[in-house]
Amino acid sequence: MDEILYKLSKSKFRSSFHLNKQMKKYIDDKGIDKIKEHGYDFVNKRLKPSYIENDGKQTPYKGHPIFIAQHACACCCRSCLEKWHHIPKNKELNNKEVEYIVNLLIKWIEMEYKKW
Ligand SMILES: [Zn+2]
Repeated sequence: MDEILYKLSKSKFRSSFHLNKQMKKYIDDKGIDKIKEHGYDFVNKRLKPSYIENDGKQTPYKGHPIFIAQHACACCCRSCLEKWHHIPKNKELNNKEVEYIVNLLIKWIEMEYKKW
């Protein structure tokens, strides 16, 4: 996980994503466990299925810390998951993969949060 985070930090595009003040407040209000729950929810709905109609466009650029983390961690769509994380497209994600993605997103959020 540290290796992939290091690689992501070297990408100009991926490292351009950051949590804003409003998002930090949202995390303060909800607590990280709740954010993680949302993470599972989003990943299960938007990334897990073997076929996703709007793949590549399913992750907004604002509105929730998980969305920002998804762009920063290249977990925004199945193409990016394949390219960066070697998780093949056109198959349903298994529990281990879902867990890996959510844990990575939470780790990124915690790292971002600490910068404040
Ligand atoms: Zn993507």
